[in-house]
Amino acid sequence: MENTRNQVSTKNPTLLQSEELHEYILKTGVYPREPNALKELRIATANHPMAFMGTAPDAGQLMAMLLKLVNPKNAIEIGVFTGYSLLLTALTIPDYGKITAIDINRKAYEIGLPIIKKAGVEHKIDFIESPALPILDKLLENPEKEGSFDFAFVDADKNNYWNYHKRLMKLVKIGGMVIYDNTLWGGSVALREEDVPEAKREWRQCAIEFNKLISADPRVEMSQVPLGDGVTICRRVC
Ligand code: SAH
Ligand code: CA
Repeated sequence: MENTRNQVSTKNPTLLQSEELHEYILKTGVYPREPNALKELRIATANHPMAFMGTAPDAGQLMAMLLKLVNPKNAIEIGVFTGYSLLLTALTIPDYGKITAIDINRKAYEIGLPIIKKAGVEHKIDFIESPALPILDKLLENPEKEGSFDFAFVDADKNNYWNYHKRLMKLVKIGGMVIYDNTLWGGSVALREEDVPEAKREWRQCAIEFNKLISADPRVEMSQVPLGDGVTICRRVC
């Protein structure tokens, strides 16, 4: 198999040195422990033309463990697609927990919904079909919503990540966690622009700017994890 180290991967995305190492990690510690409902949803998504957008199972596994540690009662997700990260969150948070899940398009969510229902966690989900920014602004009109979320997962339009962050720094409580997906954008953030396919350049630039801003943001502690397509884990500290 080709070594993707200095290239932008086009298939099963990994930032690791080799596809073999990625497969090894998935087969050894991820797939054998993946809950059946998540496996089912991942397989149901596999034939979707945009299946690559689904959260990477290895990154998802880390997220599930962090969620168990945070034990959120009130979560928010921006960018649902067929619902892998949403189901993962719903399966992990307590039974009385709630997730406000926002996506501009409900169609892909309909693929995952029967599996979410079967898993018995739909009651935790409030799905809103809308662009996310106006929903966050609407939430912020209510002062009671400030600091009311313990967890946020951001996985939608990359050009708005900083706009989401500004709002989430009010909506998520101090001590709460915010995770941003795709922050290494296929590894392209470390390549020269001319070596990156044109279609990936705009969001590469967004990721570069977001990574610079978040690194300098004293409101959060952060860790840039090179799992999946790059996951930035933040904890609000002030
Ligand atoms: N977290 C998902 C993957 C999300 S893919 C999973 O685990 O499978 C990105 C999603 O963001 C797409 O479903 C797309 O419809 C949605 N999206 C794009 N722009 C958006 C916007 N402005 N507001 C809300 N959702 C948006
Ligand atoms: Ca993603």
